[in-house]
Amino acid sequence: MTEQSTGLAQELHPLVRRVLAPNPSAFTYSGTQTYLVGRGEVAVIDPGPDLGPHVEAILAATAGERIVAMLCTHTHRDHSPATRALKAATGAPIIGCAPLALEDDGPRADAAFDVDYVPDRILTDGERFTGDGWTIEAVATPGHTSNHLCFALPQANALFTGDHVMGWSTTVISPPDGDMADYMDSLDKLMARDDAVYYPAHGEPVENPQRFVRGLAGHRRQREGQILRLLREEDRAIPAMVARMYVGVDPRLHGAAGRSVLAHLIDLEQRGVVARAGDQWRLAA
Ligand SMILES: [Zn+2]
Repeated sequence: MTEQSTGLAQELHPLVRRVLAPNPSAFTYSGTQTYLVGRGEVAVIDPGPDLGPHVEAILAATAGERIVAMLCTHTHRDHSPATRALKAATGAPIIGCAPLALEDDGPRADAAFDVDYVPDRILTDGERFTGDGWTIEAVATPGHTSNHLCFALPQANALFTGDHVMGWSTTVISPPDGDMADYMDSLDKLMARDDAVYYPAHGEPVENPQRFVRGLAGHRRQREGQILRLLREEDRAIPAMVARMYVGVDPRLHGAAGRSVLAHLIDLEQRGVVARAGDQWRLAA
């Protein structure tokens, strides 16, 4: 795949273009990729962060065309805030994931939530939205967030995977909204599909996606096994586990890694395998 620069639309398929937002970071890789689906009548998937140059790039790429809908995979701040500026500019409705109704918005290791997200229509699992020459179908994939949707484009045999499956790294599962058991179920759900390519919000397209997803599920099972081995040695707190499990990983990501370890521990606790006392975790008797 050719090198990507911000501000310019790049065609990946006759029905699919992407525009890279200028928000690179340890969490977003090269930045959020906004996808434009269709020609003439265009749907914008994950409009991205509310950055003027990015919104202008989307409008420039679709000059002479009509944006008929915006669809968000989830409401992290690197995905949905540009819906406001685009709606003001085009009047297009926001159609996609539900807003988060989260009572406890406790510590967040990855991008914060966009609390101002207001969809015009919420798509539930299997619901479709059709434009000229294309159909987008919602595939509910909770785990990274509780409101996460992937979007299938049958005309390209493609799936837009948001942050559920990324092209550069495993996703962060941050409780309480992130849920490891849901995430694993959502990986199973994708393995049962026959998509030919994934277009993630971060990183390059994923060819051979079923094998890729099998690898992700195996990676999580390995992490779970590591946690159980560490707790077999002695009771431990999460930072001590992260130090042993993420050797060589960018220390800026250790906070996020700790959230994913917590997600594993909560899943194991719910299955009766581990228990906690204060910040110490141990194997259940
Ligand atoms: Zn996210």
